[in-house]
Amino acid sequence: MSVLFYNARIWRSGAECYSWMVFNPETGKIVKCGTDQNLPLEECSKKRDMKRQWIFPGFHDCHLHVEWLGYKIGGKNMDLPPTIIAFKEKVLELSNKQDGVWVIGYGWNHDMMDRMPDKADIDEIISDRPAIMFRICQHILVANSKALEIAQITDKTEDPLNGRIDRYPEGHKLAGHPTGVLREDGGVGAMLKAMPPFSTKLQESSITLALQECLKVGLTSVHPCDNQCWKAYRNLANQNSLPIHCYFSGWYVDIDTDNFPSKPKDAYDNLSCECVKVFIDGALNGETAALSEPYLNSDGNKGVLQMTEEEIEESFTRITKAGYRLEIHVIGDRATEITLKYLKKCKVPPESRPLLVHCQILREDLLDEMVKCGVVPTIQPSFVPTDTLEIRNRLPQSLMQCIYPWKTLLKKGIICGGSSDAPIETFDPLQGMYDAIFRPDNFYGGDRSFTPDECLTFQEAVDLYTTGSAYADNTETTKGKIGAGYQADFVILKVPLNNQGEPMDLPKQPELLKSCSVKEVWIKGQCALEN
Ligand SMILES: [Zn+2]
Repeated sequence: MSVLFYNARIWRSGAECYSWMVFNPETGKIVKCGTDQNLPLEECSKKRDMKRQWIFPGFHDCHLHVEWLGYKIGGKNMDLPPTIIAFKEKVLELSNKQDGVWVIGYGWNHDMMDRMPDKADIDEIISDRPAIMFRICQHILVANSKALEIAQITDKTEDPLNGRIDRYPEGHKLAGHPTGVLREDGGVGAMLKAMPPFSTKLQESSITLALQECLKVGLTSVHPCDNQCWKAYRNLANQNSLPIHCYFSGWYVDIDTDNFPSKPKDAYDNLSCECVKVFIDGALNGETAALSEPYLNSDGNKGVLQMTEEEIEESFTRITKAGYRLEIHVIGDRATEITLKYLKKCKVPPESRPLLVHCQILREDLLDEMVKCGVVPTIQPSFVPTDTLEIRNRLPQSLMQCIYPWKTLLKKGIICGGSSDAPIETFDPLQGMYDAIFRPDNFYGGDRSFTPDECLTFQEAVDLYTTGSAYADNTETTKGKIGAGYQADFVILKVPLNNQGEPMDLPKQPELLKSCSVKEVWIKGQCALEN
């Protein structure tokens, strides 16, 4: 049984669009495609006039935090409060909504508020239950006094090497005591260890909720980065409850726990795990991303390395020997430099395509080494508009030249995967493509492009979320394209109509991405969603 879609505009990167395709819902594969008028009518049991609609390969987000996206959608969202008063109102709302012992919130950004929140702000609302509120980046949280007490973080606690415990300054009545703000693994991680873990059931419902939302925006594959979640994913896979394919990456800190795949490439229907994630540095907005030069006005702060060089060497060697691919969090140029050094030293094979997640600040001199090491950057175009608000206050001028260098990477022949880092940024791939093409500079109200030389073309932006992500997940021979033999994963877009009532020419007018939405999503030749 074959199905023919004709009179369509079927995206083909770098070539004239196909006007028709035949796919087989039983095998889940595309049988053939063409640009000519000779439709294979007699071979097909069903046919559909697509009325010139645009069809793209299923979109693929190769780095996001699905579990936390589910928590955000499912009631822990703080919605970026604009002031400390609004922050407190959100804390109250969350504490009324959550009946567990711990109150957990997610999604504030001090750059958008009058000041950094502290434990006193939460204590005012919640003093009898432990409460923690994550910053939007998840690299920073603020805890109330009860939570600090449970985690035994006091004025006597020493500063961790791989993170920070913020303290009240000299002259404050609580000078030297923790403010409640904890940063990176040494701070956030210490708090998480003190908390009871989320139950597998809760994780499962959160993951399910998030994946259903992902499907609605046209994502047919995702690469979740969720720690202590393997059991939840495996249970969902065993119940046939994963609506889209999940290329799960385990966390290195979980490798010796029972919540980790029993072997590399452990694969189920719609679930596989090839990668293990390590964190080299922190994040830009917490000024913990590891730079080669100090942050502006920072007393020489060059960011934080989350691992010692010995630990980096040990983890790279162990992960590679165990048969996994490396997935490495690097934001600052110093983090990438150290990573490349140890990829070589540990003889990590370039053909294993080590993933470098983020790559926000790169120096020109690192690019050749990146090519040699075979790394695949998994990048987040939507960071650009968000970060333009503050970036000029944080980075020294010398590093402003090589920030979010997406075009530079592509020109070097380095294939990049497109991703969102949701829930930090929106998981809508159409918005991601728009941001890759236009790089809106919010410092100037979004009307002009930030470092315009790095703007991508429509084709390059679509490639990020299709062929690029498929390459990042080692699956480019079966996914990321519409063509004979490929999996029949595709998205029909709703594009604004022209005067003749025909969908407009989206590739020629990429600004239309803002007004497009997803009409239908097909996975393995079956309609998975109709909006
Ligand atoms: Zn992330």
